Amino acid sequence: MIDTYGRNVTYLRLSVTELCNLRCRYCMPPEGICKRAHDDMLTEEEMTDAVRAAAALGITKVRITGGEPLVKPNILSICRRVSRVEGIRETALTTNAVRLPEMAAPLREAGIHRVNISLDTLDGQKYAFITRVGRLKDALAGIEAALAAGFDKVKINTVLIGGFNDDEVPALAALTMKWPVDVRFIELMPMPGSAFSGKAEAFVPAGRVLEMLPNMEPVREHDGVARLYRLPGACGSVGLISPLSSHFCAECSRLRLTADGFLKPCLHSREEICIKGMDREEMTEAMRKAILMKPGQHEALSATEGSRAARAMNRIGG
Ligand code: SAM
Repeated sequence: MIDTYGRNVTYLRLSVTELCNLRCRYCMPPEGICKRAHDDMLTEEEMTDAVRAAAALGITKVRITGGEPLVKPNILSICRRVSRVEGIRETALTTNAVRLPEMAAPLREAGIHRVNISLDTLDGQKYAFITRVGRLKDALAGIEAALAAGFDKVKINTVLIGGFNDDEVPALAALTMKWPVDVRFIELMPMPGSAFSGKAEAFVPAGRVLEMLPNMEPVREHDGVARLYRLPGACGSVGLISPLSSHFCAECSRLRLTADGFLKPCLHSREEICIKGMDREEMTEAMRKAILMKPGQHEALSATEGSRAARAMNRIGG
């Protein structure tokens, strides 16, 4: 469906849980989050109905996210149902990879085409620091499992954090030489609940990656909002995603649905529409309204000016 600003909205980010087995400092508060009552969250049936409603409006791609989608006990069933909805051509999933060693092959069988894996460092101590509770070896085993499972694409997402991992840009980009993966560097966003919000020194513009890797060549392929480059001889591309230094609102084709049933027309706005308890027709109407509510662009966002979103990332779905 075309929105008020002529953008074709084709992509739904479906958050299936707010819970996570990690506690990334830029994503959620240290204590994690309170487990909410079951009745407050979308059921599997409601999620499937929401995807059917989205498909009726022309959405063709769904990304399942969270929180951590792989901690959701019925995740395989959700993936199976979402990927089979008529009109959905691509079903992707974003994960921290910790549970991929046992889940990668079943996810592939359940219809997941692509996985994005979050990995911010290759140093075990830094990984434990940024995730507060995680072990690097679990994430690396998860990446290997994803590669073995034969997904159409495996991408690694790294949030650039000044003074934390900016010195690791060459090593992280070099993963594209070792594995058939794309590595994407994402600018840190000042989200509610982030330990780095208001800390200007933590913000690194994605363009800095180009200064650090001068031998990269631009790639002409299109990959959503990422600008793509490639190291000579690499199997995969290096992508730069710059929500702050060069926001991509003009190309935004996304609608988000939170695990508690709120449609978010824009990541950085407070506006939400609740669809919990609606039937499919009502959901379709709510989605139409949400698409028409998408702003032309979000309000000013900078390293120190926080997002207007009312929720931490784990409660939105990244
Ligand atoms: N648990 C999964 C994972 O770790 O990928 C999925 C959810 S996580 C919220 C999804 C993505 O959001 C991750 O790639 C993470 O790096 C990104 N993210 C979370 N907070 C962010 C922030 N403040 N700035 C930029 N990216 C952020």
